[in-house]
Amino acid sequence: MADRPSAVLERYPLSRLTTVGTGGPARYFARATSLDDLAACLAWAASSGIVVRTVGLGSNLLPADEGFDGLVLRLEKGLAGTVVEGDVVTCGGGASLAAVVRKATDAGLAGVEFGCAIPGTIGGAVRMNAGAYGQELRGILLDATVISAVGSRTADASGLDLRYRRSNVTDSEVVAGARLRLVASDTTTVRAAIRLLHGRRSAAQPRKVRTFGSVFKNPPGERTSGQLLEACGLKGYAVGGARISPVHANFIENVAAATSADVIALMREARRRVRDEHGIDLEHEVELLGAIALDDAT
Ligand SMILES: Cc1cc2nc3c(=O)[nH]c(=O)nc-3n(C[C@H](O)[C@H](O)[C@H](O)COP(=O)(O)OP(=O)(O)OC[C@H]3O[C@@H](n4cnc5c(N)ncnc54)[C@H](O)[C@@H]3O)c2cc1C
Repeated sequence: MADRPSAVLERYPLSRLTTVGTGGPARYFARATSLDDLAACLAWAASSGIVVRTVGLGSNLLPADEGFDGLVLRLEKGLAGTVVEGDVVTCGGGASLAAVVRKATDAGLAGVEFGCAIPGTIGGAVRMNAGAYGQELRGILLDATVISAVGSRTADASGLDLRYRRSNVTDSEVVAGARLRLVASDTTTVRAAIRLLHGRRSAAQPRKVRTFGSVFKNPPGERTSGQLLEACGLKGYAVGGARISPVHANFIENVAAATSADVIALMREARRRVRDEHGIDLEHEVELLGAIALDDAT
């Protein structure tokens, strides 16, 4: 059995690692700051039969109140850098999109502006094929390197099967880094585009409140999840400390020390109402961590 790395902590509160601020403890948690660190954590977990999951900035993650019986990894420092060379930006999986957008803008590169209002990491954005305003990560991804206990692979957007808010990156795989191909522009033009997107975002979504972004994916058809949920009269509907945002019905806000159980109860009720009133089964966009069953009671 591989030695347990000294960076591994026990019973770490997942509520500290997510933007919504709910959830119980991870049995183990480690910050991997280099590829060697990451390999050591993965080898130890594999040889001990411990399941692994990576968190980025936890901006699309709902952990169970009972916690997660495995190892949660977070990529930092040496796995969170951003380097610009020509029109290619090389990022660690733990680099925040905000930092990548800033560096690209300073270098006069366009293409990643849509990421300015997505509060996650490059690793999370690859796994989720994050996108906004009609653009997605797959449009700018040159390739990403994905590591697991059994080896590594480097693949482009089609090799990673990037589709609407999904990819073939599995729970036990870690996106350690990615390269983005951008387009030469100039800093002033890119800054102006970003200002415009920030303005659109703050008019349409809840601000200064804990959420995890979109709750449900948009279904095929004319209407978005937000429009369907709003048509069901769900804006402002609350369970415990969680409520459906009065600003945008596809967001759930943690307004008063909510638990994940509160959030799950809201999600079940929202799905039931949309199914009953519109005959549409909404699929959740938020990623679940630990034992959470959304489907059994809906
Ligand atoms: C206010 C707000 C607005 C948002 N707006 C948008 C938006 O416009 N568009 C959009 O697409 N999303 C949006 N989101 C959701 C979220 O920011 C994105 O899904 C983002 O890509 C998640 O990145 P993360 O690093 O926080 O991932 P996390 O939330 O930490 O994790 C999400 C999933 O990715 C996995 N993961 C994370 N890092 C890695 C890694 N390095 N390797 C392998 N797997 C990993 C996790 O295990 C989990 O399955 C929003 C969220 C908030 C709170």
